[in-house]
Amino acid sequence: MRPVVKRATPAAIAVLRQATQLWPKRKRLSDGLLPSSAHLVQNPNSDHNVGLAVDLTHDPKNGVDCAEIFLRLQTDARVEYLIFNGRIWSDGKGNRPYDGSNKHTKHLHISIKPKYANDTSPWFGWMGEPKRLNKAKAKLKRVKAKKKETPSPKED
Ligand SMILES: [Zn+2]
Repeated sequence: MRPVVKRATPAAIAVLRQATQLWPKRKRLSDGLLPSSAHLVQNPNSDHNVGLAVDLTHDPKNGVDCAEIFLRLQTDARVEYLIFNGRIWSDGKGNRPYDGSNKHTKHLHISIKPKYANDTSPWFGWMGEPKRLNKAKAKLKRVKAKKKETPSPKED
C-alpha cells in the first residue's frame, strides 16, 4: 500500500478550481480529492491516496456535463484513466464497461499520470478561458495599445 498524502497534487486541485472558474454555479457535492477513511479501507490502492485523482461532480444543469468531459479528456496526455456512468477509459486500453461496485453516476473520476502531477495547464481547453482571465487579458491589451499611441521621445 502506498503512503497516503496530506495534499492532493497541483494538477488534481487545478481540475476543481478551473471547473469552478468556468462554471461558478456548479454543484460540488461529489467533488473529491483525498480519500475519506472509509474510502481508504475500501480501496487501499486508489490514486486518491497519493493525490493523483480527482472526482468532479456531474451537474449538467450548471454546465458540468461529465459525459462530455469523459470523452474530451481522453485526448489529454495527463490522464491515466477516467470513470463515469458505468464506463472506464484508460490510456492504451480505450473505452469499456466498468464493473466496479460504484458505477460513478454522480461524478467523473480522473486519475492523473505521476509525471504530470504539477501540470496545471487548462483541463477544459475546449471551453476557452474563464471570463475573469479574458478580462485581465483585454485590460493588458488596452494598456499595450495605449503605450503604442504615445510617441517615443526618439521620434521627435
Ligand atoms: Zn475518484
